Amino acid sequence: MKLTRLLWLIAAFMVAFTHAALAGEDADFQHLCRVFLLTPKVDGYGDFFEKDIIAAEKMGMELCEYSIGGLIAKNRPSLAEMLRAVEEETGVEPGITACFRDDKYRPRAEGKANDPRDSFHGGTNVTKGYGDGEACDIVGLAHNRRERDERNAVVWAWLRKNDERFGWKLIYGECDGGHVAPLKGREYYAKFGAWNRPCKHGTRIAKGKRRSARFASLPGARHAPH
Ligand SMILES: [Zn+2]
Repeated sequence: MKLTRLLWLIAAFMVAFTHAALAGEDADFQHLCRVFLLTPKVDGYGDFFEKDIIAAEKMGMELCEYSIGGLIAKNRPSLAEMLRAVEEETGVEPGITACFRDDKYRPRAEGKANDPRDSFHGGTNVTKGYGDGEACDIVGLAHNRRERDERNAVVWAWLRKNDERFGWKLIYGECDGGHVAPLKGREYYAKFGAWNRPCKHGTRIAKGKRRSARFASLPGARHAPH
């Protein structure tokens, strides 16, 4: 009898534990979804929100199910934790302009550099596709262009210093739209050291020197799907 009781207890604990773990995961998923949906999907070319919606529709999915659900699930809690820390430590509310995207996503600019198949957001040349997306693009939430430049700079500078604490890496430093991927993940090794290279387009936003040249040359505007 005692053994039966012990087994019951173990079973009850397991159920409770699983529930708690799932509730935690669910909370992280919901948090990432909320942040993602709240973030204006704007770059130097204009609004690109509908591109994700179209890509999600092609999979027969809701937007969050596609964009956040397509990420490697075990990486979601640390991403959510990092975003909460951004806000706590900088006072700037972070946004997500993109997470999972697969081959169906049509980038604005054509050309090999923008081939969605080569994107660690979920392209099939470098990931297994849905459920295996690695990368997200993190920004500062803002209402206008000037605010966006300033808040992106704050968030990206913070990420540059703190990303590894959370198991993530700002792969291209402050040069490329806040693109983060897991520390010691596939893109981390594929682009090793990219975070130390100077920005190609002279668009390091924290310096702000050349950003008035053309709106299209703003950081983020040039963000190819890596
Ligand atoms: Zn990206």
